[in-house]
Amino acid sequence: MNGTTKAERRDARIFDEFAEVTKVLMHFFPGLAEKLNSMDDPRRSSCDYTQAVLIMMVIMKNVCSIVSMRQMNEAFNEKSAIINLGFLAGCSLEEMPDWQTANNYLMQLDGSQLQSILTDMISTLIRCKTFNLYRFENKYWRVIIDGTGYAYFKERHCEHDLVVKRKDPETGKERLYFYHKVLEAKIILAPDVVISLGTEFIENESADVSKQDCEQRAAQRLLARIKGNHPRLPIVILADSLYATMPFMELCRKSGWHYIINLKSGSQKNLYEDFSLLLEKGIEGEDYVKVMKAAKENGTAYYVNNVHLITEKPEVCNILKYEYLYKEEEDGKIVEKTKKFVWVSDIELTVKNVSSFIRTARSRWDIEESFRRQKKGNFRIEHLCSKDPNGMKIHYILTQFADLIMQLAQAFSKIIAFCGQSISGLAAKIKGHFTLKSLTEEAIEYIQAKSALHYYGAIE
Ligand SMILES: [Zn+2]
Repeated sequence: MNGTTKAERRDARIFDEFAEVTKVLMHFFPGLAEKLNSMDDPRRSSCDYTQAVLIMMVIMKNVCSIVSMRQMNEAFNEKSAIINLGFLAGCSLEEMPDWQTANNYLMQLDGSQLQSILTDMISTLIRCKTFNLYRFENKYWRVIIDGTGYAYFKERHCEHDLVVKRKDPETGKERLYFYHKVLEAKIILAPDVVISLGTEFIENESADVSKQDCEQRAAQRLLARIKGNHPRLPIVILADSLYATMPFMELCRKSGWHYIINLKSGSQKNLYEDFSLLLEKGIEGEDYVKVMKAAKENGTAYYVNNVHLITEKPEVCNILKYEYLYKEEEDGKIVEKTKKFVWVSDIELTVKNVSSFIRTARSRWDIEESFRRQKKGNFRIEHLCSKDPNGMKIHYILTQFADLIMQLAQAFSKIIAFCGQSISGLAAKIKGHFTLKSLTEEAIEYIQAKSALHYYGAIE
């Protein structure tokens, strides 16, 4: 964001990153603490802390990029942090809860309640129209589907573990490994704002299942849930070649969504061969088109609509190949290589939409970037904050809350943009202010005044 006014520069001097994040949070989600407190409380006996206090504490742990629960306890055991957490949770707080108190609560909490709060938050963002600019063809929200592992064990951890046989790098012998995995649907709201629209945990019902749970089965559950939560949302689903199957395309069609799926020769052999043959023959007609200088690399795109009629497949398969030349250093020499992509889609391809189609299809990569950020960047999702199978899931969902808040703060806070913060630098600054400087009355007034205004325009 460019151009800062005098008043904004003054705000930047006076107010800190924690106040900025709080401002953005309270602007978009003013009733968050009340919503957290209105969840069914799983605790039986009377409790010292509200649900909002315990949940906001763990969200702040993630926002501050603190890896473990013990480290959180050490860092947050400060008077300022207690006051600030109380402000976020909408109550006056006298002590910071212990990490074990938080974990005992989280292991009993029903994660679906948290997920529906997150769903409401995303609906709010979609409704506020700020992000409409970034939809495909000004209409369709880009939603990427992909799975990733987030917990790994050498011995069985719980009855829900997925199990895989692999070679042990130390002994060279095959052995069993146990792990937990999620399937994510991430919605692209804007460049650099990619947030979880839904999480489905991929797990076995018990240790003795004959067939393990898998991404495709989880996708059926996840997509049905998203359809239920957002029945009228226009969506284009982006997925890798694992999903280039007729049942998945059928699922998208029945949900009223478009799809753009990576295609490999191995994933749909006949379809791929028919497409290649049609290209070789160079058939004439408006359904086969070669476009030079497509997309940003000025590469070459070839497409054939309705390949499914030739291959006799039940779902619409319009196929596009895009390739371009690039240079790479190899053994000290610069060599020229070809980058190639092939996608299958129900969207009718035209000379006009080729470039935006390619751009949209390639934004599938954003989910890899999102996983990388959550694993290696600010949020170490692979670090187990709870060994309890349910507690692990709740921690994972709370990471999605923190990721959303941080991305919004980066996108919307002019002050954060003005200070040119990297995401890790920003987390460190927030941690410093949250723990060592309680919000002043002046800051609270500023947050309340600014968060009540609907001044957020499009992201520049
Ligand atoms: Zn387990």
